[in-house]
Amino acid sequence: MKITQVEALHLRLPDVNDRADGTQDTLIVRVHTDAGITGIGEVDSSPLVAKAIIEAPMSHFIAKGLAECVIGEDPLEIELLWQKMYRGSIFFGRGGAAQQAISGIDIALWDIAGKFYQQPVYKLLGGGFNKRLRAYASILFGDTPEETYDIGRRWIGEGFTAVKFGWGPLGQSEESDLAHVRQARRGVGNEAEFMIDAGLAYDVSTAIWRAHQFAEFSPYWFEEALHPDDYEGYAKLAANSPIRVAAGEQDVTFGGFEQLLDCGLDIIQPDVARVGGITNMRRIGQLAAQRHKMCVNHSYKTGVSVAASLHILAALPNTYWLEYCVEEGPLRQKLTRQTFPLDADGFVPVPEEPGLGVELDEEILEKYLVKG
Ligand code: MG
Repeated sequence: MKITQVEALHLRLPDVNDRADGTQDTLIVRVHTDAGITGIGEVDSSPLVAKAIIEAPMSHFIAKGLAECVIGEDPLEIELLWQKMYRGSIFFGRGGAAQQAISGIDIALWDIAGKFYQQPVYKLLGGGFNKRLRAYASILFGDTPEETYDIGRRWIGEGFTAVKFGWGPLGQSEESDLAHVRQARRGVGNEAEFMIDAGLAYDVSTAIWRAHQFAEFSPYWFEEALHPDDYEGYAKLAANSPIRVAAGEQDVTFGGFEQLLDCGLDIIQPDVARVGGITNMRRIGQLAAQRHKMCVNHSYKTGVSVAASLHILAALPNTYWLEYCVEEGPLRQKLTRQTFPLDADGFVPVPEEPGLGVELDEEILEKYLVKG
């Protein structure tokens, strides 16, 4: 079997605004083979930047577009192709958008392998630690504390046993921060869990102070309190926080996650559509397992990312939670035919179909595809 074509499909809603909502656009990757098997992947990046990295013609030996690195190759040699893409893009890559773009092709290669071997991807990864993951509804804080309360009530009412509130108003003032977190706890009730995603709001001293103030409301974790480059700050926060500290969604390399784990974080949050796909997320997740730390997916894209996240989480021993984005846009909710409903306990089962177990809705794809 040989790879014949790599498509990088830029999808975008007609109105995109600057709230922290990654479901307004995306880059879907399709890898075609001469055996008639097609794999699907997704990239979480700035879509046109990643599309250029995939489609760029070769400049020289270590400055190649990713498609050129894999066309004509055997799609089942996934580790080899991952290294080929990484080496082929060293000149402009070694992290950032190039690593994010590798994710889309890598995920599609795992989908092809699953379809070829007629097995779900998690089994090819040696998995099955978790056949279902506990979903937390992932959504932004309300504009007001009352709205935050309503958001918590709503998603617990929809069957979730946990809700994560993120970004938005956090960091405006001590009074406002505490009002939002108090209403988040009231909204979800005392039986459920809630998480706080600070969205880079604080400096280290404020973050340590807030961690102590928030502890009264027992959030499950305190996420992305600091700038992603502030590893020293994360070490200080992790050493001084009474609640679990989580971060990692802006990191894309193995080395970046190694550094975060060295800081003593309780939870790392790689995104399979950013870190170089399933292949690299497996390495990162296994490193966290060796350090006895939890690995939770970051994911705020379409059903393709949800499926890829489920498979890699299933194949790691140190997983339990599934970030489950509940934004209501059509790319998040309708691009794949599979919608991943919760079971009666608020968990999402890992797909058992060959490959990732997702199909694209061609009408939705066509409707939001940016042509030219
Ligand atoms: Mg986050």
